[in-house]
Amino acid sequence: MTKITILGIYVVDVAFFAPRLPRIGETILGDDFRAGPGGKGGNQAVAAARAGGAVTFVTRVGDDDFGRQARAPWAADGIDTRFVTTSDTAPTGAAFIFVDSRTGDNAIIVTPGAARELTIEHVRPALAALAPGDVFMTQLEAPLPTVVAALAEAKARGATTILNPAPAAELPDEAFRSSDLFTPNESEAAALAGFPVDGPEAAARAAAVFLAKGVGAVAVTLGPAGVLLKTPTATVLVPGFTVPEVVDTTGAGDAFNGGLAAALAEGMPLDAAVRFGNAVGALSVTRRGTAPAMPARTEIDRMLAEGAA
Ligand code: ADP
Repeated sequence: MTKITILGIYVVDVAFFAPRLPRIGETILGDDFRAGPGGKGGNQAVAAARAGGAVTFVTRVGDDDFGRQARAPWAADGIDTRFVTTSDTAPTGAAFIFVDSRTGDNAIIVTPGAARELTIEHVRPALAALAPGDVFMTQLEAPLPTVVAALAEAKARGATTILNPAPAAELPDEAFRSSDLFTPNESEAAALAGFPVDGPEAAARAAAVFLAKGVGAVAVTLGPAGVLLKTPTATVLVPGFTVPEVVDTTGAGDAFNGGLAAALAEGMPLDAAVRFGNAVGALSVTRRGTAPAMPARTEIDRMLAEGAA
């Protein structure tokens, strides 16, 4: 079976719900509190595994309770964690998420912790296990030199490489050339292309910039509108799916990327794989949370068949 190897960070999301942020020096009472798995790499690994992929996750955690607690859910989703390393000194990453309980707006501090130590040496054993045609996917939360080197080595080994450039950061030319598929959302596409991206037409112009820099194809995610897919020979809008109620859009991009990777690993053509990713993204916004909100394959197949949730 074609494998999907995902390099990225895992953090524990700790979300506090309160009517407002406290001022420095002040303590206020909050309304609610939730802790759960997060980090783009971890979320994408769960999404791809639940979508039916054979997923190997490469990350680094601390020798602490957060790091140990991550293992059981990974095992439950059938994720191969052979290449997860543990730091003796740095803690498992964590994200402080403040949610304004009146508006739903959020503000986040994410600290990668042990994942900040990820070097190419930590990733190489997983790269050595890649077979030609396997899928390799990563994002920009892990250290940039590690991400760029890993993409180049994965491509050299014949893997299909996906770079989800999130959060946006300035990228060396090599990163574009090493990416078979590049998957920014609108704000990331804008930051990377250097002009506003709001809708399919601007997304197509941004995608043209990335193709010129050497990526193989571009999928710009457009929220509920779906995805603008651009290859050297075609530009298509792959429409999103309609859901009855949007509960929490956090992690929609991770859901899309995980689904896309799983579909490509199954050998689906690119436009069909993007449509599959759209279904995974749409289902994820119908529930609270990130990794816990990732849908099962049966739900995805139902949405693909019926066209709506
Ligand atoms: P991000 O979470 O990175 O900002 P997007 O908001 O573009 O990314 O969402 C990623 C994908 O998830 C979209 O391309 C779409 O397929 C799906 N999606 C996101 N929001 C919705 C929504 N409200 N309804 C249906 N699908 C959605």
